[in-house]
Amino acid sequence: MTTFPNIKNVPRYVFGPGSRHSLSTLVDARRGRNGHNPAVYLIDPFFTGHGDFPQSLGARTDDAIRYVDVAEEPTTDAVNSLLDDLRAAGVNEPAVIVGVGGGTTLDTAKAIANLFTNPGRAEDYQGWDLVKHPGVYKIGVPTISGTGAESSRTCVMTNHRTGLKLGMNSDYTIYDQLVLDPELTSTVDRNQFFYTGMDAYIHCVESLAGRYRSPIGDSFSATVLELCKRVFLDGDMMSASGRENLMVASYLGGCALATSFVGIIHPLSAGLSVVLGLHHGVANCITLNALAEFYPEAHAQFRAMIEAQGVSIPAGVCASASDEQLNAMCDAASLHEKPLTNALGPEYKSILTRERMLGLYRRM
Ligand code: NAD
Ligand code: ZN
Repeated sequence: MTTFPNIKNVPRYVFGPGSRHSLSTLVDARRGRNGHNPAVYLIDPFFTGHGDFPQSLGARTDDAIRYVDVAEEPTTDAVNSLLDDLRAAGVNEPAVIVGVGGGTTLDTAKAIANLFTNPGRAEDYQGWDLVKHPGVYKIGVPTISGTGAESSRTCVMTNHRTGLKLGMNSDYTIYDQLVLDPELTSTVDRNQFFYTGMDAYIHCVESLAGRYRSPIGDSFSATVLELCKRVFLDGDMMSASGRENLMVASYLGGCALATSFVGIIHPLSAGLSVVLGLHHGVANCITLNALAEFYPEAHAQFRAMIEAQGVSIPAGVCASASDEQLNAMCDAASLHEKPLTNALGPEYKSILTRERMLGLYRRM
C-alpha cells in the first residue's frame, strides 16, 4: 500500500509589523499558574548592542538570556555546550524557549528545546524521527527572512567529528508558535538580506524542477517564487512591503520543504560550506551563479535580481583551492543523494560526473 506522509506545520503564528509586542503575553501564558517558571531567550548577537532588547520582548530578570554565536553556523558541539551552560546556571525545566534571530539562532533554539526533554547529546538526534519526546514549548521570532527555519521540521547542525551536516528531522522540531514581525528585519545588512532571502527562492526553484513533487508543496513553492520576484525585481527589497513579502515567502518556503527535496544547488553549496566555511546563504548564491547550465531561467532571473538590488556576489572563491580541497567539496556534495536524484534522476552520477562537478567548482 502507498504510504502517505502526514505533514505537520507550525500550529500558530502572529503576523504583522509590531507583532513582536505580543511575545510577552505568549511567553507569560506558558509560565505556569504561579508565574514562576523562567523562560530561556536565545538571541542573535546583533541585538547585544540594543540595550534592553530582551526586556522589550518581555524577558524578566529571572529568565535566562543567551546570545547565540553566529560566527559559525550551528554545530553539535556548540549546541551541547549551550545546553550545559544553561543547566549549570540552574535552568532545568524552562517554561518556554524563545529563539530570536536568523536560521542559526532559530535552529539552535529548536535543538536546545528538544535536548531539554530527550536524553543524550545533539549528535544522537541527527537524522529522521529520532527525537522521542516533545521538546520544551518553543516560540520562534525570525529577524532575517529566507531559510524557512521558522516553519521547517529540522534544525541543521554540523558534527565536525563525523563530518555530518544534518538536522534533527522530527515533528517535535517544529516551532509551537511564531511571531512574524517584518519590522525586525529592517536592520539587516543589504548583501546578507539578499543572500538569506535567496535561500527561499532557491529552495523553491529546486523543488519545482525536481522529480518528487506534491501538489501542496508545488503550490507553496509557486507562491514563494512570485513573492520573491516582487521583492527582488520590483523596487527596493528592503522597503516595508519588500520585508513583509519576504517574511511570508520564507515561512511558505519552510512549509514547502516539508513535502519536497532540494536539487543540485544545495549539495554543491554544502561542499563550499564544509570545505571553505562559507555560510549557507552566500554559498547558495555563489553556486547558483555558476549553475546556468542546469537552471537557465532561474539563473537569468537571479542575475536580474542582483542587478536590480545592486548587491554583490563573491567571485573566485575557489580560485586558490587545492585539488585536495576541490575533491573534498565534490565528496561533500555527493553525500546528498536524495536531492541529486530529485534533480537528475537515479543515474545522476553519469550526468553530474566528478569532472563536471570539478569544472563547476573551478568556475565559482
Ligand atoms: P544567520 O542566522 O547565520 O544570520 C546571518 C547574519 O545576519 C548574522 O550575522 C546575524 O547576526 C545577522 N542578523 C540577523 N538578524 C539581523 C537583524 N535583524 N539585523 C542585523 N543583522 C541581523 O543566517 P541565516 O541565513 O538566516 O541562517 C543560516 C542557517 O540556517 C544555516 O545554519 C543553515 O543551515 C540554516 N538553515 C536551516 C533551515 C531549516 O529548515 N532549519 C533551512 C535553511 C537553512
Ligand atoms: Zn537552504
